[in-house]
Amino acid sequence: MFVDRDGTINPDLRYLADAARLEVFLGVAEGIRLLRAHGYRVLCTTNQSGIERDYYTHADVGAIHHRVNEILAGGGASIDAFYYCPHAPESACECRKPATGMLEKAALDWNVDFAGSAIVGDRSLDVEAGESIGLLTVVVPPPGHEASVEAELASRNITPDVRASGFLEAALRILTRG
Ligand SMILES: [Mg+2]
Ligand SMILES: [Zn+2]
Repeated sequence: MFVDRDGTINPDLRYLADAARLEVFLGVAEGIRLLRAHGYRVLCTTNQSGIERDYYTHADVGAIHHRVNEILAGGGASIDAFYYCPHAPESACECRKPATGMLEKAALDWNVDFAGSAIVGDRSLDVEAGESIGLLTVVVPPPGHEASVEAELASRNITPDVRASGFLEAALRILTRG
């Protein structure tokens, strides 16, 4: 299954560059542990246009992903692999969500069957990308941002298959397919 990073695993600090500032939301480690125990690969797919904008480097992003797994390890969990798009929207690449190139690359690498898989995210672009390839789409708003997440989905006329109130609920809903 595919999971967004900023706003889904960790608070979206807008162009986070420093791994030392990273926090992981409650329920993420438990949810990931559960999904992996049921045979899912957990693949993080994240837009990181801050690289092309020169706000941070590939190495910064690598350090953050290393730190995500360090924190998750404390809860007996880990992300199997991280994929990121370094491009700004103006580049019109094929990997930046809602395009599906990043998800397709990860699926090839890990032999993922889209029809039996899912995406968890906090924005319409996560849902749009997932819909395009037939994933179960799950939205989890960051705590305290429920209204703005709903407003963003409505503004793009996007409806996820599942709305969950935390990552653990998202994981349970994936296991029961909705
Ligand atoms: Mg996000
Ligand atoms: Zn890209």
